[in-house]
Amino acid sequence: MAFLAGHCMCGAVTWTYSGNITRNLVCHCADCRRATSAPLTAFLGMRPEQLSWTGDIRHYESSPDTFRGFCPSCGTRLYFRSDRWPREIHVHAATMANPEDYLPDAQVFMPSRAKWLDRLPSLPAHEGFQEQPSGNSPAKTR
Ligand SMILES: [Zn+2]
Ligand SMILES: [Zn+2]
Repeated sequence: MAFLAGHCMCGAVTWTYSGNITRNLVCHCADCRRATSAPLTAFLGMRPEQLSWTGDIRHYESSPDTFRGFCPSCGTRLYFRSDRWPREIHVHAATMANPEDYLPDAQVFMPSRAKWLDRLPSLPAHEGFQEQPSGNSPAKTR
């Protein structure tokens, strides 16, 4: 049994959940990458009847009977749901009130995982945003 809460970036949409987590995973699929404009996303599977929302939510039907919800004010992606899995809704873990508490159990769609994620441990790492552009050549594509 989990007791969780979350919100979008602007706070217009909030959610609370008390129930079991049905799945807990990092998704590398191309649809999630495109929908979130991020290299990967992380989901918590929740029972719809135990999940409460406040605020206005829009959704985009990314494939037939598959819906991706977002806040119309700030654009934060909130959830994925599909009629293929009617008994669960996949809430983006990054919207948790305390996203640093999140710990995934598995990763899925590994063949479409962004290859450059493997390079991260060998890249220069900075505490904050770089003050100056690096001046290096434009982004390499491989
Ligand atoms: Zn918002
Ligand atoms: Zn995905």
